[in-house]
Amino acid sequence: MYDYHMHSYFSTDCAIPVKEMIEGAIAAGMKEIAITDHIDYEYNSTEIQFDFDVEMGLVEYEALAEQYADRIKVRKGLEIGIQPHVLGRCSILVNMHAFDFVIASVHNSGKQDLYNGDFYRDRTPEEALLFFYEELYEMLKDYKDYSVIGHFDIVKRYNDDVKALSFEKYKEVIEKPLKEVIKAGKGIEINLSGIRQGLGETLPSLDVLKLYKELGGEIVTLGSDSHVPETIGDQFRLGIQMLREAGFDKIYRFERMQPIPVPLEVLETFYARD
Ligand SMILES: [Zn+2]
Ligand SMILES: [Zn+2]
Repeated sequence: MYDYHMHSYFSTDCAIPVKEMIEGAIAAGMKEIAITDHIDYEYNSTEIQFDFDVEMGLVEYEALAEQYADRIKVRKGLEIGIQPHVLGRCSILVNMHAFDFVIASVHNSGKQDLYNGDFYRDRTPEEALLFFYEELYEMLKDYKDYSVIGHFDIVKRYNDDVKALSFEKYKEVIEKPLKEVIKAGKGIEINLSGIRQGLGETLPSLDVLKLYKELGGEIVTLGSDSHVPETIGDQFRLGIQMLREAGFDKIYRFERMQPIPVPLEVLETFYARD
């Protein structure tokens, strides 16, 4: 199994050493993982900032990758927070270092935080949804320094009224950034954390995944977005079912930013055992 979204103590919101995440991944039966610690330039929150010494992180990932090479493949990843005014810095960071895999994620939109609710405060649910996807679309027209978009429909995560909006009604708005992803030869992830965190859905939802496939999207990774070893690989069976239902027959792993397909049958044999 391939878990391509997890954090370690290099992320501000995670206290677990990289080594413990790797051991947790081995215990969970993972064949390969990507450590994707957070950098979020100009993250708009007074309480917390997401930044770390990337060189230090990479040195540690690499040393541990070597140490555990006979048991698991550890890829050097990053989760970079994208906002229109920091894209230049994001590009420099991604291009300056030897990452295998980069998740581009929106955590702030309109320079406001989604998680703490600021973004939703002066917007109707419809305005919030439209603003979020339009800003993402504008960014993706220019920004190409990533492998997959993280939790593509995260705008639904922190506001139930946005979540309740009709997919059919806003399909064309969601389509625009998806088309940019596809045109650029990039991908999206299925972020499974929504299930264990009570959202009741993955990010993106099956509707969006199907739309991505219809539009010609091919590259998808699976990610638990784990901040503790115990949730690595969580809900991957559901992720694989969703992929099948949407018409995919493979997922992707990455080496030096190059996507490499893995047939779903290979993943399904993992579950055939139980
Ligand atoms: Zn994220
Ligand atoms: Zn994450």
